[in-house]
Amino acid sequence: MIAGILDESLRGILDAVSDGVYVTTAEREIVFWSKGAERITGYSSDEVLKKHCYDNILVHMDVLGKNLCFDGCPLQKCIETGDRQDAKEVFLKRKDGERLAVYVKASVLEVGDERYGVEIFGELQSVTGSALADQLKQLSDVSIVDHLTGLYNRRYIDTILEQQYELFKRHFQRFGLVMIDIDKFKSINDTFGHLAGDEVLKSVASVLQRSLRSMDFLARFGGDEFIIVCPLVELEGIENLGERIVGLVHHSVLSSPDNPQDVIEVSVSVGGSIVDYKDKSANTIIERADEALYRVKRDGGNWYALG
Ligand code: GH3
Ligand code: MG
Repeated sequence: MIAGILDESLRGILDAVSDGVYVTTAEREIVFWSKGAERITGYSSDEVLKKHCYDNILVHMDVLGKNLCFDGCPLQKCIETGDRQDAKEVFLKRKDGERLAVYVKASVLEVGDERYGVEIFGELQSVTGSALADQLKQLSDVSIVDHLTGLYNRRYIDTILEQQYELFKRHFQRFGLVMIDIDKFKSINDTFGHLAGDEVLKSVASVLQRSLRSMDFLARFGGDEFIIVCPLVELEGIENLGERIVGLVHHSVLSSPDNPQDVIEVSVSVGGSIVDYKDKSANTIIERADEALYRVKRDGGNWYALG
């Protein structure tokens, strides 16, 4: 019986952590639901205990919109294999209907012959630190959007970066970023005119938009430079994204707004980096990506490198 496994003091500890924690039987019946889980999801423990985690309560979905409760439930995999499931980004549905990006980790608890599943989940967008909370509050009063491209602006992405850096320091949540700079953009302006240049900026923005996971943040960093901040990503994810962007931009065909028969060749150089324990600030991660980007530029552009 679960009450025997989770004694009062252990329940107290699990209730005290800000992340949500729940425990299920091998059949995925929920037998413990922490205070953090109540806060994040809006469901009280009375509402979920004795239900199954696939009973359409939280409706976990992956970033592609696949319902994981029936196909790919991290907790089920964990219970079946006995192996811990590392952090995975999913979306869950709060009681009020809001979709929330969370990371989930699953592990098993073996008690005698019984195997229980334990899932820990935390808000990806949760704000850490009061200074940062103030900063975000201020941002709600000012524009966070770049008017030309409709992407986030530099001010907003700087705050997101700080937030991700804080989450890394406190919860060891890895994140990465890629910097993107259009090659020889000045000569596009000079050859086709400033308006055509604006169209190129907009179309690169929309190509980038299509290359993202829904949890990534894309901003215009300034001039012809863009940045994508990717929460919960590993090196391989950053490398794939960087290479994908180079290919997608290079294969998109643009024509001059004044003379549609004139094809504008566009390419980008991309530098990527991932947070490291040695990083002293969020800026260090940008500097690494920038250094990689300029290496690519020196080699002729239209490629990706890691910093
Ligand atoms: P590189 O290959 O080394 O990146 O060279 P580049 O010509 O792309 O880079 P450079 O930084 O010299 O030029 C960027 C240009 O972008 C200069 C600036 O006039 C132009 N630019 C900045 N903002 C805008 C904008 O909103 N619209 C247009 N059309 N041009 C812009
Ligand atoms: Mg450029």
